[in-house]
Amino acid sequence: MKKVLALTFIMIIFLSGCSFGSYSYSDSFFAMDTYMSVTANGANAQSAVKKAKKQVLRLENLLSAHKEKSEVYRLNKNGSEKLSNDTIKVIKNALKFSRLTNGAFNPAMLPVTKLWGFPDKKYRVPKKSEIENALKLAKPEKISVNKNEVTLNLKGEEIDLGAIAKGYTSSKIIEIFKREGIESGIVNLGGNVQTLGAKPDGSLWTVAIENPDKNSEYLGKLKIKDKAVVTSGGYERNFTKNGKMYHHILNPENGYPAENGLSSVTVISEDGTLSDALSTSLFVMGKNGAERFYKKSEKDFDIILYTEGGKLTVSQGIADSFNSQLDFDIVKKD
Ligand code: ADP
Ligand code: MG
Repeated sequence: MKKVLALTFIMIIFLSGCSFGSYSYSDSFFAMDTYMSVTANGANAQSAVKKAKKQVLRLENLLSAHKEKSEVYRLNKNGSEKLSNDTIKVIKNALKFSRLTNGAFNPAMLPVTKLWGFPDKKYRVPKKSEIENALKLAKPEKISVNKNEVTLNLKGEEIDLGAIAKGYTSSKIIEIFKREGIESGIVNLGGNVQTLGAKPDGSLWTVAIENPDKNSEYLGKLKIKDKAVVTSGGYERNFTKNGKMYHHILNPENGYPAENGLSSVTVISEDGTLSDALSTSLFVMGKNGAERFYKKSEKDFDIILYTEGGKLTVSQGIADSFNSQLDFDIVKKD
């Protein structure tokens, strides 16, 4: 959590480097278990940011698996529920990315995540047999969506939209900004950054990508407009037991923290939901798997991969927009 906080402040420092005109409005607040900041530029900036904040709180109250009155909480408790359009959309997207990534993205891992104590921060290393039993419930293919009703077809199955909800939320904020006539804005939902248009002076936004090894340095800085930049890494949330570090992104194949030699994955695209879902998925796949997925995918996105050995790889679409002190390889589409 401390690291998420540091990341947020770092980003704010960078973002406030832009020339805020007289019609700029920002707000920072805590929601979805992280620090968030929302900035709009333009005549309606204040009302747009207020509406954005309201939207974040509304979506949190629908999508959180841990808030007792949320729709997802009720679904997990009752096994079947009629849900609002937003919740249905996020669940359908989660199931789509689960299929697209061949199961690396798995929105039904909550029984396993709970065993590790990640939701309530009461961390422990579960027994292998406990993990194996909980994994039997982590079956996205056993979730059915019929119009506005979702059914979890395995008894005890529970969903967790934590790897996709913030991306969906940042996209919704950009929609609100557009409806309010805002042409320039940026949101940072605990490391999920999404930008609208360019800065008020017409120049591109600068988004710094945190270096998982050293909090005070960056892997590099991206110059972008109209993009969602989402980073996933084991360094964000973890605990250490008997000298070994365990983090919060689990490999659905074995129920243990994904260990494929990657420290962080950043996904850059126009779609917040896609960037969020794929950053988690590509982290699970590891460097080779992530590169393979990027090369054959028909989706329009770019990646920045950083390995535990300190190797940096950037995809061809953003290579020219990425500035780094470090050497990096460029991965190209087939
Ligand atoms: P964060 O939201 O912490 O920035 P992610 O978007 O990568 O990072 O989401 C991680 C969260 O997603 C975990 O805390 C957990 O709730 C959930 N999760 C863990 N493993 C997976 C997985 N393989 N697929 C989908 N969700 C996962
Ligand atoms: Mg994610």
